[in-house]
Amino acid sequence: MKISNGANKPRILSGTQPSGKLHIGNYLGALKNFVALQSSGKYECFFMVADYHSVTEDYAPAEKRQQIINLTLDFLAAGLDPKISTIFLQSLVPEHLELAWIFDTVTPVAELERMTQYKDKANRQEKNINAGLFTYPVLQAADILIYKPQAVPVGSDQLQHLEITNTIGRKFNRRFGPTFQETKPLLTATPKVMSLSEPAKKMSKSEPAGCVYLTDEPEEILHKIKRAVTDTAPGKDKTPGVANLFTLLSEFGSAEDIKRFEAAHLNGTIRYAELKEILATRIAEHFADFREERKKLAKDPDKIIKLLKTDSAKAEKLAAKTLAEVKQKIGLAF
Ligand code: AMP
Repeated sequence: MKISNGANKPRILSGTQPSGKLHIGNYLGALKNFVALQSSGKYECFFMVADYHSVTEDYAPAEKRQQIINLTLDFLAAGLDPKISTIFLQSLVPEHLELAWIFDTVTPVAELERMTQYKDKANRQEKNINAGLFTYPVLQAADILIYKPQAVPVGSDQLQHLEITNTIGRKFNRRFGPTFQETKPLLTATPKVMSLSEPAKKMSKSEPAGCVYLTDEPEEILHKIKRAVTDTAPGKDKTPGVANLFTLLSEFGSAEDIKRFEAAHLNGTIRYAELKEILATRIAEHFADFREERKKLAKDPDKIIKLLKTDSAKAEKLAAKTLAEVKQKIGLAF
């Protein structure tokens, strides 16, 4: 059965945690696509600053407001436009939490125990394995399904979360009647950018040594790319580190750069120092306008908070509608 969300255009939604600076993995896996999807004019877009998720990790309360502002600045400087997209703050839409509780009641604990991100995070913060870390996917399912989107643009690390979101939606539908449609992931050509320092792992905010941040100045970018792990002698097969640099070159380099270095790799004349220098220059060039725009926007942090409040009120209207429908279906409408 087809379940309508009442919108004229397909709706998309994606969230990002305000827990550290955005890196080029976040950009290539998600943010760049957010901007492209918004600019295509084909979608009704919702982008969420996932602050309630970010408090499941160790953090300093005094820094959270600035982290929220920073992430919103990244969104805006990269090209998200509040005139087109709804850019909102999760904690200003409390309906997400109410729906998450209802979803808790249809989510098997065994499904949550299988989540790889829970296991990773529990290993990383052994002294703070809180229940929020465990039930995080349920809140994420509520964040998504409350807007009944057709698709969610994410990096591949989120696929398991999207699967459990759909599992929860199906379980709800089976028990209480058709309410939530299936939500599809929208992956980019680079859904998993690897760490520069440990290329077997994904680039992650939790490992700053392996990241290039969107706000890095050209010298920092060069310094980091120069230190990226490659291999000792050029070989026929690309090592994970080399393959990662080529992936980055395919995104940031010119057609000529790509052709030249692919050919040099094939005939064994490649010099990684040269590849790294060109790559660092291209990354720095790519984000030059972004850095400029972000510095301008950062001068008025109150405006950023105001925008989040206005858009959260917009998001809440939709969220409240779904929650009312859900409460009706579960027998709690008064
Ligand atoms: P997070 O910072 O974990 O909230 O992630 C924000 C978005 O960036 C999500 O859609 C992730 O899937 C995506 N993302 C995070 N790390 C990477 C990476 N290394 N490569 C590609 N996408 C990523």
